Amino acid sequence: MTGVPTTPDDVARAAAAAPDLAALDAVVPTCRACPRLVAWRELVGVEKRAAFRDEEYWARPVPGFGDPSAGVLVVGLAPAAHGANRTGRMFTGDRSGDFLFAAMHRTGFASQATSTARDDGLTLTDVRVTAPVRCAPPANAPTPQERRTCGPYLSRELELVRPRVVVVLGAFGWQALLSTLAEQSWVVPRPRPRFGHGVEVALAGPGGASVVLLGCFHVSQQNTFTGRLTPDMLDAVLLRARALLSGDQASDESRARQR
Ligand code: SF4
Repeated sequence: MTGVPTTPDDVARAAAAAPDLAALDAVVPTCRACPRLVAWRELVGVEKRAAFRDEEYWARPVPGFGDPSAGVLVVGLAPAAHGANRTGRMFTGDRSGDFLFAAMHRTGFASQATSTARDDGLTLTDVRVTAPVRCAPPANAPTPQERRTCGPYLSRELELVRPRVVVVLGAFGWQALLSTLAEQSWVVPRPRPRFGHGVEVALAGPGGASVVLLGCFHVSQQNTFTGRLTPDMLDAVLLRARALLSGDQASDESRARQR
């Protein structure tokens, strides 16, 4: 391995070797392990959308973004071709991100309501945004093999961040996350828990890790323009995530008092 991951084994080794989140976030954008996705993300960056023709696209894998010790991880499926694949930050530069970060701002997780560029000053508190697949896929559809290849990055991110709640956006992200967790030694029930808006599932992972998955309809325009997902519904999920965190903190404090 030369330092640039070009095979699934390289990805597994690079992810496992990352000693901290900064190292993981540095290695992810160098990855070239999925030929189809490498070709697509770079083609989109050359062809561009007319509205962004004067911009230089990121056109690389997108690392997670946010608080390194976040209690809440927000997980989509993969970067959008002209959103995160253009700006280099998850859910940044498109309508989905506008909807998501406005809600995070209303619920106290984000310093501002908009996310337009990597240098726009946005900071997140107690939340980090990431995805099971780090490269923009054609038709927003990674193959099972591509998701498997990318899995070690998310697995290592979970180990390093140790979130207590994972808000999962959409059924595809839900399936992808459960598959990744199962492959990375988490205990995932069979049959697999079904996705639903507001569904909560507690899972145990390696090394005593545990999380509550919290399902939420995806913030795509298909859902937000039609009213399937309203701002109130998204706020409620984020507030539920915060309540789960507070509950954890309360029980930690109670356990500490009993010692
Ligand atoms: S999807 Fe993941 S594993 Fe595949 S090239 Fe992108 S970053 Fe690498």
